[in-house]
Amino acid sequence: MAVALLVAAGSGERLGASRPKAFVVLAGRPMLEWSLAALRAAGLEEVVVALPDGEEAPAGCAGVRGGATRSESVRRALAAAGRAEQVVVHDAARPLVEPSLFTRALDALSRADCAVAAAQVTDTVKEAGPDHRVTATLDRTRLWAIQTPQAFRRAALERALDVGDDVLAAATDDAWLVERAGGSVVVVPSTPANFKVTTAHDFQVAELLLRERAPAPDGS
Ligand code: C5P
Repeated sequence: MAVALLVAAGSGERLGASRPKAFVVLAGRPMLEWSLAALRAAGLEEVVVALPDGEEAPAGCAGVRGGATRSESVRRALAAAGRAEQVVVHDAARPLVEPSLFTRALDALSRADCAVAAAQVTDTVKEAGPDHRVTATLDRTRLWAIQTPQAFRRAALERALDVGDDVLAAATDDAWLVERAGGSVVVVPSTPANFKVTTAHDFQVAELLLRERAPAPDGS
């Protein structure tokens, strides 16, 4: 069976809310509860939540204090997890995740050390220097925008996280740490609907979409 690590320890400064982002009420429930409901619907019962200071783990979940960086939060949550051989990491900031994405990512571990949800890039992507001069145009047929969930064979994730704090701080996703350690990573096709709530605009869009999915108990 797999354990889920729900990383919720970010401050969410770019959202400009008065509480840490994962605990801001979104369409009637704290943001992290939407991901939790999706994890449960996918049959993932063991969940460890990386928490910001001053917040408690939701009922039925283990909680650990988050770290200074995202991957440090993952490392701490993994250390508190039971003996599961598969690990799925998910951002509390992606409340629109569909339960089937967890199962598809875990299924893909039959052929790789790590499997990451990803949406094929539809925009043309260029590289530019600090002077804004374009230096390259990338082949977008090969580009994927990486999301969570990210599923891991546990041994591969443990090996990948066994690095200095400077390397952890440089990781914008945990799969990169597996790549760096020589592990194999595959993408699991997802869609832009599983976007990360970062700005106030993202929050408004998520609120509209989630209200359609399940109206708040008070009908608001
Ligand atoms: O900051 P960003 O939106 O990229 O964070 C992605 C996810 O990682 C969020 O769910 C956030 O709560 C979590 N995070 C964490 N610990 C940190 C920083 C971010 O658990 N130190």
